[in-house]
Amino acid sequence: MSEDCIFCAIIAGEITGRTVAETDDALAFLDANPLSPGHTLVVPKAHHTRVADMSAAESRAVFDLVHELAPRIEEAVDADAHTIAVNDGPEAGQEVPHAHVHVIPRFADDDGGPIHAVAGSPLELSDEELDEIAESIST
Ligand code: 5GP
Ligand code: ZN
Repeated sequence: MSEDCIFCAIIAGEITGRTVAETDDALAFLDANPLSPGHTLVVPKAHHTRVADMSAAESRAVFDLVHELAPRIEEAVDADAHTIAVNDGPEAGQEVPHAHVHVIPRFADDDGGPIHAVAGSPLELSDEELDEIAESIST
């Protein structure tokens, strides 16, 4: 647990969160400022800031809960789809420094866009540049 972390306080039961599911290593609760009805956050119970800070087992526990909850949320709020996303780091928009997956119900007539809308326009990269990037990630 980290002092001054709002999600750790929810996990510890010190402040109210509308918990919707819990496993040994992960907790899911409603976002206090939902982008749509049913907007849920799934977090590791241990305090980790970034996705890569979680152990592989914790990361599996978080995504297992996302996997279990998504159809339940969709049914509960009669959604058509979901955007499932992580703001992983402040430059990507992360405001709460406790890793979390947003599960955001989407509706055919909502005004939202695809995840592609959040990071600007697609780049025009050459095959060589793409090869170089793939090479540096894979080695
Ligand atoms: P981020 O921008 O870090 O990816 O998203 C943080 C999310 O946490 C926001 O959607 C925000 O509404 C939500 N949030 C912030 N404080 C609280 C809180 O005290 N309780 C709950 N349930 N959600 C919170
Ligand atoms: Zn925390």
